[in-house]
Amino acid sequence: MFGNLSDRLSDTFKSLRGKGKLSAADIDETLRDIRRALLEADVALEVVKTFTGKVRERALGDEVSKALNPAQQVVQIVNDELKAILGGEARKLAFAKNPPTVIMLAGLQGSGKTTLAGKLAKWLKEQNHTPLLVAADLQRPNAVTQLQVLGEKVGVPVFAPEAGNGTGDPVKVSRDAIDFAKKSQYSVVIVDTAGRLGVDQEMMQQASDIRDAVSPDEILFVVDSMLGQDAVNVAKAFHDGVGVSGVVLTKLDGDSRGGAALSVATVTGAPILFSSTGEGLDAFEPFYPDRMASRILDMGDILSLIEQAQKNFDEEESKRLAEKLATEQFTLQDFLEQMQQLKRMGSMKNLLGMLPGIAQAKRQLEEFDEREITRTEAIIYSMTPLERNQPKVLNGSRRMRIAKGSGTSVTEVNQLIQRFEQASKVMKTMARGGVPNIPGTNPV
Ligand code: GDP
Repeated sequence: MFGNLSDRLSDTFKSLRGKGKLSAADIDETLRDIRRALLEADVALEVVKTFTGKVRERALGDEVSKALNPAQQVVQIVNDELKAILGGEARKLAFAKNPPTVIMLAGLQGSGKTTLAGKLAKWLKEQNHTPLLVAADLQRPNAVTQLQVLGEKVGVPVFAPEAGNGTGDPVKVSRDAIDFAKKSQYSVVIVDTAGRLGVDQEMMQQASDIRDAVSPDEILFVVDSMLGQDAVNVAKAFHDGVGVSGVVLTKLDGDSRGGAALSVATVTGAPILFSSTGEGLDAFEPFYPDRMASRILDMGDILSLIEQAQKNFDEEESKRLAEKLATEQFTLQDFLEQMQQLKRMGSMKNLLGMLPGIAQAKRQLEEFDEREITRTEAIIYSMTPLERNQPKVLNGSRRMRIAKGSGTSVTEVNQLIQRFEQASKVMKTMARGGVPNIPGTNPV
């Protein structure tokens, strides 16, 4: 996501970098490139126009001409304005003073509403809320069952018409659900509504009837980021027909150009509250416009990275490894466990994408093969416990046996052992409080 846009923008800025003073012509040329890059990324024309207009005004103003590094200043302005079209300051979900808080989900069929309902329920539950899911999508075959399956997975009850899929009146179900939530003291109610493949009057009517029945605290417009230019029309239709208080971008993991993501907040005037990046229930996070803007501009997203690392890293396990390091008993078994932790931190590509300066290293990144970790695991699994703990015992014939056992080659086994030795050196330096010098990386 945003890969092309990010590349294009960083190329544009590269050509600025060498310049001391920037002339109006330099700025106009840069703006032309930015405009082209945004349009190619499918960002809505009206959004592009407003965006470049604002950047131009500021870039020609004092802050750039007086800046020590004018090119850097222009990048900063683009960053600020990108953040602004993504909704400005991050906004949190609004909770009602008197529970239950009612969150209504609206959007086209297939946008990811039902999946999102499950993710949101899980996320809220983890924060000690007591959510109730409401199946008010009585149009799509199986929508009720899908929600029930999700509810069961995340341990959140689902309020649904007794007869199940495709039956009942969605407005009545939603109203009854709110009564039930009040009686049973649920703190948040998430109402999943029906969508159609395209915008139509009947769907809008049903959504606004449900809205009137449940008086939601939030109406979240769920939009598939792969929708392209069309996203803008759909967003406008929902904004006018039902009203939108917040946006959720789904399928940000997809290979699309990202234009929808950059247009909907401006078009609806509602901030993006969450983004969803996969089918799994954990592939969901609060949205931070500033972090996304700097990610697009390839300034990295260190905060998200740290959060993700903290969430997935087993603290006890890390402590144990750190202690081992301190006593300098780091073994291949530990190396294996460490790699498994790394794997748990999510796809390596995702993770690397969050680091700054990665656009340049993109080609290498494309070539990065996650199967490498799997092969490494296979090699270590083929070792005996003694070999894992004392790699020094690994002579030629043992290495050959391990290569056979793991379906790899002796060269690969040798390389792994070499890498392990390097890694343990680095680890030992770190354990002693030093900062290792790893070739090819820059401190961030
Ligand atoms: P609904 O019709 O709006 O309720 O949409 P669903 O929740 O059924 O989602 C439609 C499809 O998109 C399902 O196959 C989901 O698994 C998938 N999906 C939902 N969110 C995401 C996401 O963030 N990334 C990806 N790759 N797939 C998603």
